[in-house]
Amino acid sequence: MEGKIKTATVKREGEHWYIIFITEVDPKPLPPSEEAIGIDLGTNPHFLVTSEGEMVEAPRYFQKAQAKLATAQRSLARKKRGSNRRRQARRRVARLHRKIANQRRDFHHKVARKLVNRYGTIVHEDLNLQALSRSHIAKGVQDAGWAQFLAILAYKAEEAGRRVIKVDPKYTSQDCPVCGHREKKPLWVRAYTCPQCGALLHRDVAAAQNILAKAWTGPSGETPRAFPQGNTPRSPGL
Ligand SMILES: [Zn+2]
Repeated sequence: MEGKIKTATVKREGEHWYIIFITEVDPKPLPPSEEAIGIDLGTNPHFLVTSEGEMVEAPRYFQKAQAKLATAQRSLARKKRGSNRRRQARRRVARLHRKIANQRRDFHHKVARKLVNRYGTIVHEDLNLQALSRSHIAKGVQDAGWAQFLAILAYKAEEAGRRVIKVDPKYTSQDCPVCGHREKKPLWVRAYTCPQCGALLHRDVAAAQNILAKAWTGPSGETPRAFPQGNTPRSPGL
């Protein structure tokens, strides 16, 4: 175990017991990086899409476990109340829930680690503001998973001396990142051509580029930060 142990907590989940240690470790800053990335969170089938066009999918084993959980839940619903079989089915559902939560957390750690190692600045949508936006409710960001991922990302970045910036998600899914043309697009349209400048865009990559542009001033050396709502400077070269 790393660091000096500050507290230890014993916790029970179903038939499993855990000891949780909180330790104090010295931050290990990574060498500074000028590289910045915008990330668009989860429109199916992707977990996230970056402004550089990288698409990260939830791992297959995770999707499989979720299908298994759905089956187990249906089976539980059919069992007679108070029966032994119902108790067994309930335990099975709880086991799968736990397995999925562990797999999800592990996946979140890996994705966050990769982003923090590579980029000096990571920009994402502010989930609190996002809750107000209709198109984002359709994306299913209410899933508690996003909050967990962003919390992991934030502390890993802090530990490494890297920067995470939250921006207002307003219009990020409507604007053309090349010319700024604003247009509402239905959620099922994945790729489209901008009617104003002719740019061929992937919807989620375009959103990630808009997210990055909301925080990035362009000239190097200047500290990137979130801009006030409605003022979205365009960075050259996107
Ligand atoms: Zn355009």
